[in-house]
Amino acid sequence: MVNTSTADALGQGTGPRAEIGVIGGSGFYAFLDDVTEVTVETPYGSPSDSLFLGEVAGRRVAFLPRHGRGHHLPPHRINYRANLWALRSVGVRQVLGPCAVGGLREEYGPGTLLVPDQLVDRTKTRAQSFFDGEPLPDGSVPEVVHLPFADPYCPAGRAAVLAAARGRDWEPVDGGTMVVVEGPRFSTRAESRWHAAQGWAVVGMTGHPEAALARELGLRYTSLALVTDLDAGAETGDGVTHEEVLRVFAANVERLRGVLFDVVGVLPGNEDRGCPCAGALDGLELGIALP
Ligand SMILES: [Zn+2]
Repeated sequence: MVNTSTADALGQGTGPRAEIGVIGGSGFYAFLDDVTEVTVETPYGSPSDSLFLGEVAGRRVAFLPRHGRGHHLPPHRINYRANLWALRSVGVRQVLGPCAVGGLREEYGPGTLLVPDQLVDRTKTRAQSFFDGEPLPDGSVPEVVHLPFADPYCPAGRAAVLAAARGRDWEPVDGGTMVVVEGPRFSTRAESRWHAAQGWAVVGMTGHPEAALARELGLRYTSLALVTDLDAGAETGDGVTHEEVLRVFAANVERLRGVLFDVVGVLPGNEDRGCPCAGALDGLELGIALP
């Protein structure tokens, strides 16, 4: 069932609210059955799609299909700033970001769930920051802001995901570095071998700047990396295809959804300040008003 609602121009208003955001990756276009569809515009343009608000385990959740519900947006064309701004504008303060990745080690085969603890950015063309000196439509100008990003993911969120996966007999990989490439092409063998030789665990196309932008909005962010293939340098065949990625993701999307349901039930509340990311913006002069 889908009801519809429209937020005002800045996405601020008295419409439906949510506290937890889920950004669905390739092959993951719907999360909840009984939802209110909310269209949100932001100072940075339109998000990938409407937000779909509903309830899980007594908590309000906003779902956003990262590539749009028809998968029309390639990773380098996603408006990451609008996506995170839109989520925050309906009240979201913590975000779960499932994504499809390639495994860089033989033991991380298709179906592996890895909860990364580090990130390497190899993207090239994406807007990386809300604090880029450009005035917003309301005339406010962001200050120059440099945020700590040594640990890009929320430790509380990671712990919740690891526990939820184990609770569903899906032993996750606890930690590892996700290298994020520009795409949309997959890596060459040389690139892939180089990534693996660095000790990096998985390669994706959407984990950055999503995690960094979440930090800039004071959102706790947790990545769930679902391995859909072995990357070119870690296998001996012809290399990964988009069809293979979608097929493996589809085969795992139901259990991923189950894990996410369980995670939502055990995430700390938004008022809980017991992790460093929740207070990332405390005391900073931002120059712009966050929604
Ligand atoms: Zn945190």
